[in-house]
Amino acid sequence: MRITRIRRQELRLQLDPAVHAAWDPNPRREFAATIVRVETDAGVAGIGSGDTMVGFGEFEHLFIGQDPLAIARHARTLEGIAFHAGRYWPLETALWDLYGRVCGLPLAMLLGGARDSVPAYASWCEHRCGEQRVEDAHALLQAGFRAVKIRLGRGHLEESLAVVAAVRDAVGERLDLIVDLNQWWRMPGDTEASLDPAAAERLIERLRDHDVLWAEEPLAGADHAGMRRLANRTGMRIAGGEMARTFEELLLALEHDALEVFQPDVVLALGISATRTLADLALRRNRWFTPHTWTNGIGLMANLQVCAGVGGGPYIEFPYDPPAWTASKRDFMLAAPIEVGQDGLLRVPDGPGLGVELDEERVAAQLVADTEARG
Ligand SMILES: [Mg+2]
Repeated sequence: MRITRIRRQELRLQLDPAVHAAWDPNPRREFAATIVRVETDAGVAGIGSGDTMVGFGEFEHLFIGQDPLAIARHARTLEGIAFHAGRYWPLETALWDLYGRVCGLPLAMLLGGARDSVPAYASWCEHRCGEQRVEDAHALLQAGFRAVKIRLGRGHLEESLAVVAAVRDAVGERLDLIVDLNQWWRMPGDTEASLDPAAAERLIERLRDHDVLWAEEPLAGADHAGMRRLANRTGMRIAGGEMARTFEELLLALEHDALEVFQPDVVLALGISATRTLADLALRRNRWFTPHTWTNGIGLMANLQVCAGVGGGPYIEFPYDPPAWTASKRDFMLAAPIEVGQDGLLRVPDGPGLGVELDEERVAAQLVADTEARG
């Protein structure tokens, strides 16, 4: 089998009202998504999405004409490209989707089939007042969720701590609470320094009073010693690595015992192949693997398939903060949005590969650029 065509479709969805993500100083007025389609001479095709794919045109020739199932070769090629240019993991996702379609099996099964569902935590993105968040938390309980992630908004630290307290008071033990400090990395142009270890420790001490499951990215990513010390001094689980740039970065975090919870996103950070290896190593050291999923429905599903396949958990991230961020906005390019069951579980679909199908009319309606390479 040979790869005959790689197509990249850039989509834009207007967001009205804008989404005020706690980690982004700029309101988000549109939502960009690039879909990668890999086609073959056998008629079978795969799709991926997640990172932008900007600049990939320079490297398409390294894949056209190759056997799509030689995924280790392609993943190593993508690592080489990532060193010199951008991270093009959506291509690898499309190849794994294609591999699953050839085998007629869900990707999770190809990766080990350890479980067929993972409990989802609702991942809130906005900073809102405590009263609103108590109402939002009750809506999550009604919808079946068992856990939620709250952002410690920059410039709103005291209010955010009050939100954590108010939600804990309102829901008792019915929801696990996760708190994200969003300090590991910054958006382009955002040059504010990370929290320093002493400030992060004071915050985490206060979070401890509210029985928080993990504190996410409390320090800049390079500060392994700082994260280890935070965990030792506070007893809190420290999570991170969602946007790590290399496998070695997180392997070092594991060797330095910097994290209790590993979160590489397969369509942004390490790709599926390397994330599986990292997850296996972390799980064997009795650490948690629960990937970041904050892209779109295709990226969410790719991460779910890996998390389920290797037996990660205890939760998987489900980006969801209605009315600003809903499944239908997040998954606008899919024939059906991905939903969490009333039992709080996110299930691996029965279909082969990623198990998602595009809504071709919606893709055409939101299309802003369409490029392709052919062999
Ligand atoms: Mg995070």
